[in-house]
Amino acid sequence: MTNSKVLISGAGVAGPALAFWLRRAGWDVTVVERAPALREGGYKVDVRGAGTTVLKRMGLHEAARERDTGMRQVTYVRRDGRKIASLPADLLMGRRGDDLEIMRGDLSRIFHDATADVEYRFGDAIAALDDGADGVGVTFESGRAERFAFVVAADGLNSSTRRAVFGEVPLRHLGAYISIFSVPNELGLDHEEVMYTEPGRLIFAYAMGPEKSGKVGLTFASEPLSYDRRDVTAQKDLVRAAFAGRGWRSDDFLSAMDAADDFYFDSLSQVELPSWSSGRVVLLGDAAHCPSPSSGQGTSLALVGAYVLADELAKADGDVTAAFAAYERVMRPYVEQNMTFGRKMAKDMVPASRLSIAFRNYGMRTLRFHPRKEQVIDRVLAPMYAAANAIAI
Ligand SMILES: Cc1cc2nc3c(=O)[nH]c(=O)nc-3n(C[C@H](O)[C@H](O)[C@H](O)COP(=O)(O)OP(=O)(O)OC[C@H]3O[C@@H](n4cnc5c(N)ncnc54)[C@H](O)[C@@H]3O)c2cc1C
Repeated sequence: MTNSKVLISGAGVAGPALAFWLRRAGWDVTVVERAPALREGGYKVDVRGAGTTVLKRMGLHEAARERDTGMRQVTYVRRDGRKIASLPADLLMGRRGDDLEIMRGDLSRIFHDATADVEYRFGDAIAALDDGADGVGVTFESGRAERFAFVVAADGLNSSTRRAVFGEVPLRHLGAYISIFSVPNELGLDHEEVMYTEPGRLIFAYAMGPEKSGKVGLTFASEPLSYDRRDVTAQKDLVRAAFAGRGWRSDDFLSAMDAADDFYFDSLSQVELPSWSSGRVVLLGDAAHCPSPSSGQGTSLALVGAYVLADELAKADGDVTAAFAAYERVMRPYVEQNMTFGRKMAKDMVPASRLSIAFRNYGMRTLRFHPRKEQVIDRVLAPMYAAANAIAI
């Protein structure tokens, strides 16, 4: 093949991770990102199971471990902020071995910095694609036109590259919306997460030390909403309507939301497609198979997908479409197991009734004193670990 130029759309997690491997394999890689700079927003994300193995193979596990959230404790509170129960984070999250938890922005930054020899073009995006037998002609929104050997859509849950190739793909709505943004750490949280629930609403807040700023997540149950994805003010209005006058620190957090410059808002949704490639365009990460944040596995799937795709491209000796087919064959069973887990967890994430909240609170209060609490948690989390390791790489 004469053209060694590859275009990746999206500098989130999947895009820079694939750029890392493709650059090492000798491809000339360009990453185009619609945002004007790396998007550092987001909450804590987990890297576990096969995702941890890939991070180690990238030689970046140590760098990520240094940025581990080091979370110590999870506390559930009542409407007036009084404590219901606190539990050690390691117990509740069931961390195993070298798995880690890291702020999404920190992980994205680590991958970006590890790909200094890759060209990142911020503030631009694909405007049109012309997929041919020997390459893909791309016109960018900036007006620039170029030809690439293949194009990778790693532009997230609402991928516009996916839309250009596959048309409108309906998302599987899991019944809730999530917003995340930075807040002043007025609670003085020190490696502690605080959670508050009322029917149809979940608030979580976290900080990596009393001197650090905090992150807040406001999640609410809702049927699918129609709104302009580029209109941040309209999205903040939706969150305000859901949380104004609600319990705990809802109104304080809404005030902080207005000032936040890293506001993230999206639906709890999954992407399901019968195929992840068309000609010389292939989907990666959330664009291909977003399992939703309720799975806690989106980042690991993206990392493993990047590794498998690069591996299959290396084995395919220039036959790009054969590599895409092999990548999908290897990934699909693993992805599907994690999607199933994500759907199951979404049901519990935002409890619908006072009864289910009371039941959960009772469980949290008594778990502390349970003589076999580790085994109880292990049993609950077993499907997550099975899904996280459901691929041989
Ligand atoms: C700001 C942000 C915050 C997030 N916070 C959380 C969180 O707290 N918890 C959680 O579980 N998951 C979160 N996610 C999702 C999580 O990052 C993914 O599930 C996972 O890491 C897989 O990553 P990805 O690279 O496939 O997608 P993403 O991380 O979503 O990255 C996609 C990238 O593509 C860019 N993009 C979008 N459209 C275009 C376009 N047309 N052209 C070029 N670039 C484009 C986006 O700006 C983004 O940088 C967040 C995503 C974002 C973008």
